[in-house]
Amino acid sequence: MPSVSQEVLDKFLRAGAIAREARSYGIAHVRAGGSSLELANAIENLIRERGGQCAFPVNIGVNEVAAHYTPSNSNDVKFRHGDVVKIDVGAHVDGYPADTAATVEVGTKNHSALIRSAEDALTMCIEMVAPGTSVSAMGATVSRVIKAAGFKPVQNLTGHSMERWNLHAGMSIPNIETRDKDLLHEGMVLAIEPFSTVGTGKVAGRGRGSIYRVVRDRKAPEDVCALFTKMRTEFGPFPFAGRWCDRLSPSSDALVTKMFRLGMIMSYPILTDVGDGVVAQAEHSVIVTADGCKVLT
Ligand code: MN
Ligand code: MN
Repeated sequence: MPSVSQEVLDKFLRAGAIAREARSYGIAHVRAGGSSLELANAIENLIRERGGQCAFPVNIGVNEVAAHYTPSNSNDVKFRHGDVVKIDVGAHVDGYPADTAATVEVGTKNHSALIRSAEDALTMCIEMVAPGTSVSAMGATVSRVIKAAGFKPVQNLTGHSMERWNLHAGMSIPNIETRDKDLLHEGMVLAIEPFSTVGTGKVAGRGRGSIYRVVRDRKAPEDVCALFTKMRTEFGPFPFAGRWCDRLSPSSDALVTKMFRLGMIMSYPILTDVGDGVVAQAEHSVIVTADGCKVLT
């Protein structure tokens, strides 16, 4: 008996195909001198043109930035020759998300082995996926492959199970061996995302980022509440970008800051290798089948 209906599977597959195309588009359009803001907008527009919605703002991590940076109108990182750029995209169809990432180096080949180590770890890890596989064993494989290439896995970033309207549905897929007893089962949808680095292998949050999520309603001024209601309708429980709120209100920047201070929304700090080492990432979403898995992205 299939644990996921054909209708649900079709939505995951559509989200996966859209996310894959958006990732490839992003990787193909990273250029020295290019604007990360323009690229993020183009990638997100492509997701919408294909009939999907963004499951989160495009994350564009340059060099030591591992995750949770998305450009804003006031903070637009420009790509430089030699940068190592991660493009991490999420698309959803009717709430069913797919999450995928890849890494590209801008005009140089100084970090090819680092990038390949994350890709190889992902490939090896995907080969293990089947009902009964332990997540700790998956982490051990990721760690082994990356260390064998001479790099470190990022130990405090993980993959995650996903469900409708939920990017982190309870199970973590570590990038190192753990004491975790979780086992995979048929029908689970997983994002698997090894990170490799020349740095310390630990990331920490630095500053308030531009990616937010709705937390709770609060007593607040009328203009704050009006924008909050629109956000909840538009973005649901998925993360959103500050720049997405521009079209919802002319004074969205100030209102978003008020909401943040009131605890109505939370922000994801930008995650950076604590030793400022360059980080690479590879990610696919998969669905666990009776005898293995199907890659959605
Ligand atoms: Mn991702
Ligand atoms: Mn992910």
